[in-house]
Formats: sequence, C-alpha cells, structure tokens
Amino acid sequence: MRVFFIGYGQAGGKIVDMFLAMDKKIQGNSFRGIAVNTARTDLMGLKHIEMKDRLLIGQTVVKGHGVGTDNVTGAKIAADEIDTIINAIDMRGTHDIDAFIVVAGLGGGTGSGGTPVLCRHLKRIYREPVYVLGMIPAPEEGKLYSYNAARSLATLVKEADNTFIFDNSAWKSEGESVKAGYDTLNDELVRRFGVLFRAGEVGKLGVGEMVVDSSEFINTLRGGGISTVGYAVSEVSTKSKPKKSLFSGFGKKKEEAESSLTGEDKSAKIIGVIRRAMLGRLTLPCDYTTAERALVLVAGPPNELDRKGVEKSKSWVEENIAGVEVRGGDYPVESSYIAGVVILASIGNAPRITELLEIAKETKKDVLVSQERRSTMFEDAVDPLFE
Ligand code: GDP
Repeated sequence: MRVFFIGYGQAGGKIVDMFLAMDKKIQGNSFRGIAVNTARTDLMGLKHIEMKDRLLIGQTVVKGHGVGTDNVTGAKIAADEIDTIINAIDMRGTHDIDAFIVVAGLGGGTGSGGTPVLCRHLKRIYREPVYVLGMIPAPEEGKLYSYNAARSLATLVKEADNTFIFDNSAWKSEGESVKAGYDTLNDELVRRFGVLFRAGEVGKLGVGEMVVDSSEFINTLRGGGISTVGYAVSEVSTKSKPKKSLFSGFGKKKEEAESSLTGEDKSAKIIGVIRRAMLGRLTLPCDYTTAERALVLVAGPPNELDRKGVEKSKSWVEENIAGVEVRGGDYPVESSYIAGVVILASIGNAPRITELLEIAKETKKDVLVSQERRSTMFEDAVDPLFE
C-alpha cells in the first residue's frame, strides 16, 4: 500500500520516523510522512522526516514548549490550525496514496487531542480511508494518561475509519519501566505494522502468488472500531542470507526466529506461522474470537510462498473468529524468514480497553470532587474584599 503517515506528538513522530527509515533501508517507495507537534524539541530529534515536513503548531499558545498532558488544548490547537496541517499534507502530495495513517500516543496531550480532530478533517476532505495507530499507556504511567487515552479513543472510534491499538503495558519487559523500554517497544511495533502496511507493493521480486491489494485491506477494516495485529516469523533454510531484510529490525536486539520448520512442506510452514501470529501476543491482547473480519498476510522469499498454505491459513482463522470474512495473500521479499501477519479487525472484547475506561471513569469522578472542594473551600469563611 501507499501510505501517508502523520506522526502526531512525540511518540507519533518517533514511530513515523522509524517507518520511513525502514522504507529507506529496503529501498522501498511505499511510505511518506510528516510530523506534527506543539513541542519544538521533539521535532528536532527526528532523523528521517525531512525538515520541511516537520510542522510546529500552537506557537501563539504554548510557544513551542508543548501542551504537556493537556489534550483539550491539544485538540483546540489542532482545530485552530487545521488548515496549516492540511496544507502541509497537500504539499507532500496525496494523489497516489491508498490510505492515511495517523500515529500517536493516546495518553499524552498533543497527539491524544490532535489526532481525532485531524481524522475528522481528513475524512471530510479526502476520499482515502483514515486509520489511526494509537499507543495506549500502561496503568503505571498514572491515571491522567489513562483518562486522556480513554477520551481520545472514545472520540477516535467515531472519527477514524479504524484504529489499530498497540498496548504499551503488554509489550514492556517485566521489571522495566515503560519509558526505558520504548526502543524495544517501538522496534516490535514498526516491524509488525511495517510488514502489514507494505502489503501489495511491487518490490524487486515482483508480486506474490496471491496479491493483497489495498481494497482488501480497506474492506477488512471497514467495520470501524478497534483492531489488533498478530505477528510471527519462521526461519527458512537459506545458505546465503540476504543483506537487507524487512524483518531484521532496527535495534540491537534482532528477533530470533521462534522456531525453524525446515523440512516441513511450505504449506504447513505457512499455517504454522499464521497460527502462532494469531495465538501469540497481539498488539492489543484481546479475545480474538470476537473479531468481525481478518486479513492474513504472508511475506517471505518467493520460493517459500504457497497458495494452498495461505488458503488453509485463511480457513483456520475463519473457524476461530466471530465473523466469516477473512481475506489474505502473500508477497515476496528478500529475507531469510517467512513472516505471518494477521489483522483481527473490529474486535468486540478487550479487557485492557475495559480497564482503561474504568480508570477513566474513576478519574473523572475524582476530578469533579476536587473541583467541588476547591470551589467551596472559601465559602462562608471570611468575606472577600470586594465582589
Ligand atoms: P504528546 O507529545 O503530547 O502527544 O505525548 P507523547 O507522545 O510524549 O506521549 C503520550 C503517550 O505515548 C505516553 O503516555 C506513552 O504511553 C506513549 N509513548 C511516548 N513515547 C513513546 C514511544 O517512544 N513508544 C511508545 N510505544 N509509546 C510512547
């Protein structure tokens, strides 16, 4: 797919920067992206998004210092400066894209507040679908972050065509703070979604046996709501490993193949990898049986791809989810791994989202009580100097 990324806020900008790095590394031409922020320093830290594509907004309000965790101000700035944002998007060119993907951490201020506003306007102006890739905060980040994320998400399900969730708490290592683990987390996130968003693109190796075009991607997501993604890899037995690999990751910690299935037939290998993708850790852990639709994608060296394997994997996924619409296909890449990706779209039950909404409800109550206390504190105590 041809994707136009908008990295909104600090986390969003960082992740889009990584998607562009990935595209460059494999000499692809699928991704383009801009970054939008209220904090100047966050924009300066980016490496792969061109300077002219880094947009600082809200300068008259926060003077380049960011909105902190105030997502209401984040939303207001986005609404006030929407024309500037749309103009920056138009400057980068949108005529040949298949979808917009807005990336943001939903617990903060700029991305949390601005993303729903931007989605509303993108949908109003363009015909292409508008998706969000949103990171939800771990409970340990504090109630305010959960409250912000819940409010942002409740708005996004109305404004975006679909929202992919990446749950930071499910992906951080035991004993490690979320902040310390961001590099690893981001690596995992970009690897999964990078494979997915490149589906259907014609690379040096041509097209796959069963091409997944953008309309299949779009139809899978058309139910709206929230979606989650599973991923697994399996090593193939190649003597000479290619220099550039789509799945080799960015950080120092190169993902090891979870198992080597050499010797089994291609079809069984593909089914195995798709099963592990769906039953392993999802970007948002949830009850996968409640998914309305699914997309199964296999990427790997051309001689490892197999139509029967993809068909059987699709049937297996279909037997295991609520809906009956399962699409799928493959695409060839230079790699010593086969990667399997499954989108479980429009899911109906995710305990972490329920928890997030519960925390948000509690926080809202706490905020109201403290407001009440503040406003009555001086009542009847002494007379003010003047009314
Ligand atoms: P903003 O700049 O105001 O939009 O806020 P941030 O992007 O700094 O942070 C919002 C939320 O995003 C935080 O609560 C974290 O949960 C999450 N976050 C921040 N940085 C990263 C990152 O590098 N990776 C991931 N996965 N999440 C992040």
